[in-house]
Amino acid sequence: MAQVSDRQGLVVVAGAGGFIGGHLVGQLKRLGWGEIRAVDLKDKAEWYQHHAGIDERVLDLRDAAACREAAQGASQIFNLAADMGGMGFIETHKAECMLSVLINTHMLMAAKEAGAQRFFFSSSACVYNADKQVMANVPALREEDAYPAMPEDGYGWEKLFSERMCRHFREDYGLITRMARFHNVYGPWGTYEGGREKAPAAICRKVIEAKQSGRHEIEIWGDGEQTRSFMYIDDCLEGSVRLMDSGVDEAINIGSDELVSINRLVDIAEKIGGIKLKRHYKLDAPKGVRGRNSDNTLVKQVLGWAPSIRLEDGLERTYRWIHDQMTAPATTRRAS
Ligand code: NAD
Repeated sequence: MAQVSDRQGLVVVAGAGGFIGGHLVGQLKRLGWGEIRAVDLKDKAEWYQHHAGIDERVLDLRDAAACREAAQGASQIFNLAADMGGMGFIETHKAECMLSVLINTHMLMAAKEAGAQRFFFSSSACVYNADKQVMANVPALREEDAYPAMPEDGYGWEKLFSERMCRHFREDYGLITRMARFHNVYGPWGTYEGGREKAPAAICRKVIEAKQSGRHEIEIWGDGEQTRSFMYIDDCLEGSVRLMDSGVDEAINIGSDELVSINRLVDIAEKIGGIKLKRHYKLDAPKGVRGRNSDNTLVKQVLGWAPSIRLEDGLERTYRWIHDQMTAPATTRRAS
């Protein structure tokens, strides 16, 4: 079980203009990586975060030549680039989600060509078989529950296929690949408006809007009894780096196991906002599976760690950040 502890050479973060990628660049810097390259499709003005001293590049990683440029000289590559969003996006943009296969394919090929030692792939809990997620009070998902395959249509199939490609690049070409199945990640600098936002950010935004407008009502997608677990960004970063450094070849859950209903999530956001809202349930909205939770037995065993930040604590920090963004729109989205 080879472990890496030094932070030598060049580390590349693909998707660095987005939520998790932007935080990861900051984390790698804090961990002492001297050379960091950050890559994203978006104009730099659209990146959620910038960090000083980083080689930032705007590249479309669906393109093989762009991936070669991104990977050149890299010793480690974290691939977080994907065309994705919350349920409202992935249920209505299946082809776009599946086209992310171009990013993963070309990044893997470029990593191999560049002689990179390690490659991290951000997979998703959407790879799990839909038949195991039909009840709100669902048993938590173990890694073996991805097969036989019946993942989320579009987005989940792409993730499952790309996991297998990572596995075969390791087996056939010796590129060390690490695959994290993230379960709903949330936190500051995440998307909270525009159609790609996920439940925690969307609900914080709706509570804040209700307070600001004085219309004390909230729309909830589905009957609110569907369940999920939500992982705060700091746990996601810790788990991702630990996994990259580890000897764990198989895809593994990186997710919270604190199962909550969407109604409970709204309760928490209301408590933070100091308000009670009248709930309207939009039953025909995109809802995804009925229940989903992360079984953390394996991650505890192989990484000696699991996400532990309580939803109430993480959501409070997220709510405050969204509130600041909404009340001071001129605030530049910049960190250093
Ligand atoms: P995000 O949308 O904030 O970030 C993804 C970034 O990839 C964006 O900045 C986007 O511009 C970039 N990108 C898209 N197409 C690109 C291209 N062709 N070339 C270069 N860059 C491109 O999403 P995120 O929440 O930070 O998610 C990061 C990764 O983690 C994704 O692979 C996602 O599927 C996975 N994931 C996230 C969650 C979550 O809850 N956030 C859950 C499971 C898996």
